[in-house]
Amino acid sequence: MDTFSIIKEHISLADVVGQYGVSLKPQSGNRYAALCPFHNDKSPSFVIYPDGGFKCFGCGEHGDVVDFVAKIDGLSPIDAAKQLDADYGLGLFDTRLSREERATAARQAEQRKHDRELMTAFDEWCRRHHIAICNEVHLLEGLIPKYRPQSTEDAFSAEFAAIIEEVAWLDIELDILMVGTTEAKLELFNNEMIRDEMRCDVA
Ligand SMILES: [Zn+2]
Repeated sequence: MDTFSIIKEHISLADVVGQYGVSLKPQSGNRYAALCPFHNDKSPSFVIYPDGGFKCFGCGEHGDVVDFVAKIDGLSPIDAAKQLDADYGLGLFDTRLSREERATAARQAEQRKHDRELMTAFDEWCRRHHIAICNEVHLLEGLIPKYRPQSTEDAFSAEFAAIIEEVAWLDIELDILMVGTTEAKLELFNNEMIRDEMRCDVA
């Protein structure tokens, strides 16, 4: 049996996909369905089959566990196989490695796992922050009729100006969360964390 077949035989695709923060819903026939991690999926079109293969009916991505890791981490198939080998301790590639090299590989595998967990937490934050902003915008827009100038001659009240400014800022944040780059979202995340810390300091 070649190395790739051994990997497919020993490592569950569902397990690996789950580690990348994709939540799987069991379907009939030992299949799983999920939101596709390779395109902006609105309804679960990513299917995992009991034979260890996957296929997305939205974007057409398909393959096995090695293809999945190669695609999602931007690796060549052989590097993806090596990564899986290290993560699952199969020892297919590193039989000639020294103890030190094995320890390094184990640390790197631990780091990758940590990074993936962080990414999952970050995605979850983006999701919750999106909902929170939508609620806040809704709330603020509800206040507009109360503070809106009654005629064109009336000056803006300080409250009205503050509401308009806040809604404009929140709209920018919403744009970032919906169509922004990962870097822009991370910057937003960091800013929010700093702001939260400052709030805690005040309180
Ligand atoms: Zn897809």
